[in-house]
Amino acid sequence: MGLLEGKNALVFGLANDKSIAWGIIQAFLREGANIGISYAGEIMEKRVKPLAEKINCQWVEECDVTKDDQIEAVVKKAEKHFGKIDILVHSIAYAGRDELSKPYSQTSREGFRVAMDISVFSFVALTNAFLPIMNDGGSILCLTYGSGAVKVAPHYNVMGVAKAALESSTRYLAYDLGPRKIRVNAISAGAIRTLAAAGVGGFRDMYKHFADKSPMRENVTIDDVGDAAVFLASDLSKRITGEILYVDSGFNIMGVQMVEKEGE
Ligand code: NAD
Repeated sequence: MGLLEGKNALVFGLANDKSIAWGIIQAFLREGANIGISYAGEIMEKRVKPLAEKINCQWVEECDVTKDDQIEAVVKKAEKHFGKIDILVHSIAYAGRDELSKPYSQTSREGFRVAMDISVFSFVALTNAFLPIMNDGGSILCLTYGSGAVKVAPHYNVMGVAKAALESSTRYLAYDLGPRKIRVNAISAGAIRTLAAAGVGGFRDMYKHFADKSPMRENVTIDDVGDAAVFLASDLSKRITGEILYVDSGFNIMGVQMVEKEGE
């Protein structure tokens, strides 16, 4: 029997088959969960619908998380189809390309607002909106990049600041929902080549740096993140809440980045 057998899981943030959300969906399916998928808008629809068909997913709904009415509507649709849900995954982030290439000191007011709204507030808003239809003992997850939130990752800029706020929100939400035994955790993924990552200035170097400098000397995959998400979504982690789980080949533990290659 799978670890998530019979659980209803909604995943927000699927863009294509490179998305971290896709890795999570695959792993959840393997463990027996019923999946619902939500995507951002028309442009995404063309990519997401064929993927949903491939896995015979019956619930695929649009939700632009900057719109309160769309959040409200998606909750109603989920209630109609699933009744109650057990797992909610937020795999969403956005910042303007400009903000991820200029120095952080030049972040615009609007760029800051948009990054915070889409990448942080939406996690709070979705959590609050889904609470009435969430079973006690459920699990809520988001995706962060801790090495850019608690430390400086060049070019990550306002997204690093947003991730710091997202991680803090994870802890505050965990406190709020603890009495209902609903757990709230974040996965801090290593650098993975996705659509969102392509917007970060110098990502290619960051990606290579990861493989060169992490203790395990390799990049992580969306499947690695999916497996960690299964753990945090399942009863195996039933006393874990408010945590940031790093899935990054150990990259974040390094101080001075001077790992030698084997044989050197
Ligand atoms: P991705 O581009 O596949 O996913 C980002 C998703 O956010 C997309 O599906 C996009 O449609 C969605 N989104 C943006 N604006 C939205 C809006 N207004 N409403 C609804 N959805 C919206 O990229 P990804 O790398 O899979 O990103 C998923 C999460 O993982 C993000 O939180 C990202 O910061 C995080 N993360 C990524 C990496 C990496 O290296 N790729 C590392 C650590 C954390």
